[in-house]
Amino acid sequence: TATVYTFGADAAQDDPRQQDKTVTGGKGANLADMAAIGLPVPPGFTITTEECVRYLKDGADFSDALRADVGKALQYIEESVGKRFGDAGDPLLVSVRSGARVSMPGMMDTVLNLGLNDATVEGLATTSGDPRFAWDSYRRFLQMYSDVVLGLDHGLFEEALEIVKEDNGFYSDTEMQCEHWQALAAEYKAIVARELGKPFPQDVTEQLWGAIAAVFDSWDSERAKVYRRLNAIPGDWGTAVNVQAMVFGNMGETSATGVAFTRDPSTGERAYYGEWLVNAQGEDVVAGIRTPQYLTRTARLAAGAQAPSMEEAMPAAYAELARVFDLLETHYRDMQDIEFTVQQGKLWMLQTRSGKRTAKAALRMAVEMVEEGLIDEETAICRVDPMALDQLLHPTLDPDAVRDVLAKGLPASPGAASGAIVLDADTAEARSGRGEAVILVRVETSPEDIHGMHAARGILTARGGMTSHAAVVARGMGRPCVSGTSAVSIDLKQRTLRIGNRDLKEGDTITLDGSTGEVMAGEVPTIEPELAGHFGILMEWADRHRRMAVRTNAETPADCRTARQFGAEGIGLCRTEHMFFDAGRISAVRAMILADDETGRRTALARLLPEQRGDFAQIFRTMAGLPCTIRLLDPPLHEFMPTRDEDFEGLAEDLGVGIDHLRRRAAELHEFNPMLGHRGCRLGITFPEIYEMQARAIFEAACEVTGEGGESVVPEVMVPLVATRKELEILRALVDRVAQDVFTERGITLDYLVGTMIELPRAALMAGEIAEEARFFSFGTNDLTQTALGVSRDDAGRFLAPYVEQGIYARDPFVSLDIDGVGQLVELAVQRGRATRPDIKLGICGEHGGDPESIAFCEKVGLDYVSASPYRVPIARLAAAQAAL
Ligand code: PEP
Ligand code: MG
Repeated sequence: TATVYTFGADAAQDDPRQQDKTVTGGKGANLADMAAIGLPVPPGFTITTEECVRYLKDGADFSDALRADVGKALQYIEESVGKRFGDAGDPLLVSVRSGARVSMPGMMDTVLNLGLNDATVEGLATTSGDPRFAWDSYRRFLQMYSDVVLGLDHGLFEEALEIVKEDNGFYSDTEMQCEHWQALAAEYKAIVARELGKPFPQDVTEQLWGAIAAVFDSWDSERAKVYRRLNAIPGDWGTAVNVQAMVFGNMGETSATGVAFTRDPSTGERAYYGEWLVNAQGEDVVAGIRTPQYLTRTARLAAGAQAPSMEEAMPAAYAELARVFDLLETHYRDMQDIEFTVQQGKLWMLQTRSGKRTAKAALRMAVEMVEEGLIDEETAICRVDPMALDQLLHPTLDPDAVRDVLAKGLPASPGAASGAIVLDADTAEARSGRGEAVILVRVETSPEDIHGMHAARGILTARGGMTSHAAVVARGMGRPCVSGTSAVSIDLKQRTLRIGNRDLKEGDTITLDGSTGEVMAGEVPTIEPELAGHFGILMEWADRHRRMAVRTNAETPADCRTARQFGAEGIGLCRTEHMFFDAGRISAVRAMILADDETGRRTALARLLPEQRGDFAQIFRTMAGLPCTIRLLDPPLHEFMPTRDEDFEGLAEDLGVGIDHLRRRAAELHEFNPMLGHRGCRLGITFPEIYEMQARAIFEAACEVTGEGGESVVPEVMVPLVATRKELEILRALVDRVAQDVFTERGITLDYLVGTMIELPRAALMAGEIAEEARFFSFGTNDLTQTALGVSRDDAGRFLAPYVEQGIYARDPFVSLDIDGVGQLVELAVQRGRATRPDIKLGICGEHGGDPESIAFCEKVGLDYVSASPYRVPIARLAAAQAAL
């Protein structure tokens, strides 16, 4: 099989492997694709991802096949362009870029102008007729190559440039003349020789292989690993390398370079969107060195900008670009993110890919593309990443709130966030690790800042446009971001900054509105999101295509209301113990726990009964006839005991007992492994009066609410941590007895179900027998994961991260179900439970019920519903639809 594929107007491009992103990477596959549909793509070749994997496995060694194939492919470019690589008279120059299966910040990005050296620069000067351009290109190459391939600090080179400018009294790069670039190139080479103890490579072939190796090596860089971990990308994919003939956007006023989207990536509006610069090379647009210009006249006018749009300044090239946009959208049936260059009036396409977008934009595009007939409903449902909905479900700034606006930057990623200012990524990570909300403020961000951006609630940068690193990464992560805020200046030494005319310091609170670009002092109040519009439409489609129901884990009426607004179709788990912690009742709970005998416990429970009844009644009313699963008490009793001295004193006084007595009882309650101790149904077996009180509260509340008219309540009473049929048999009899008593007292009879959680491996194995007693199973995959893996939920944090890093688990098994292992237990229990009781109701209420991958598994094994926390309900609805399609 080939190690290299060529693309361009003269290439064959007939091997289907070339269009396979797993082989040629996203960038390589799409370059070939564009060339094949006749778009102007500079000729080049792609080295396969397989070669990267081989190279890394072989200890950084290229295969002989690769060396031969690269030689041939280079010859193809030479023939196609009519120039030779390393030819001092008329040199071919190339770009070298990485290109994994999915676009991946953190890896080596780009080396431009490769093939220049002391001899070929003269040839370029002659053939272009522009020596200043040639030397400018050479110094750019020297800097870029030294930075990304030779690993030298780019600060050294920027400093040297600043010195030349200062010495000559220049303000901007455009004032630099040929001789200045020439002098700078000499200075750059001197820096390399000084820093590395050997000269900058003049041999163009050595340059090329150096760049290829750097791309391969960057796959295993720390930054790339962090990104892969955050995005669950496997470490064994490898990256492709794209080598392509250079075209120049910096050959004078008829040349330009830009980045564009076929629709607005921030709002989703169907309007060409992008940024460009006249007489510039690719890096200038994203690096934020010059402020980019708008692509269209409409966008320029809307922003009140002076510099002409591309539509106005280069109408012919713009018209060609617009034609390409439309071709690409019809070809890929999705919004495209494009890089282009105009060389002396001629348009060249350098890249296209499905553009990253905000959740809001993803929804709007998906819905509008269905309306336009570009895609069908099913495709639209699958286009939106369920986890991205999270961005939309969170609050935005209250429009009526007072705003102390300090400055305005670009609205780079929507949403609002407040937090303490932090000035570097490590501080962001450290302070957010301590539970603090932080806003990362940087001049501009680079891939080294990714961990800090992830830790921050929002990101503010002084430089960079809408397509800068900060903007792109923030949108992908769903963090609000304001970029290009020139009114921000930072003093990293003093840890202070100035925003507009206000002096601030690290730790001060600010608020960002990533939808307007406003930066405000202090914390600004927020409001709940709008759930109609495109969101509502897509959710409706999702509901139509899903099979599983979606319930919520909730125990307060407020949470129940939120969950219903988000479309919850019932309660899958009401953890009654959460109601025990309320200030008014914790003392009754403690009195119950500390009682010496059953009589003492019953007295305390009698105080709790009306409280619990009230809670359940409110929940039943809020859920208006939707199914509600209420779980009987689960956690070990010591969790309710005080821990602080002053609380012990208060409690002793409350209960009228001595503090020593209390301490002794607390010590008696201590368990070595409370997760496997006296908890769950074991409490109900040993202290039946607790479950009796809870069952009574449930049925009395159900009778009360049903008596109020409206939908009749069908409570589902759930017993936790069952391991044996006998446990459930005893407790079901208890619940049935209380139900009959209450129905007799109230003179009404209600339907109800008694069921159990499956959260112990034995319960999963014995599900056939347990189903004789259970009308429903709800998989408690939190405990099931803990007990099947033998990994404590509370202590896993200390070692799970390295486990995931080393690939022992692909993802945190408490976040995404361990389908291979724990999944088997679930599947087995489903089969055995159904064999006994074909109509048994099956659901999941562990955290995994809100995780898209786990939801896909639930669909596969045929559960009836998933239950997720309120804010995850829409995610679950969409994920369930995707799983069903
Ligand atoms: C579970 O174990 O998955 C569950 C939902 O119960 P809890 O998290 O309350 O133990
Ligand atoms: Mg549990």
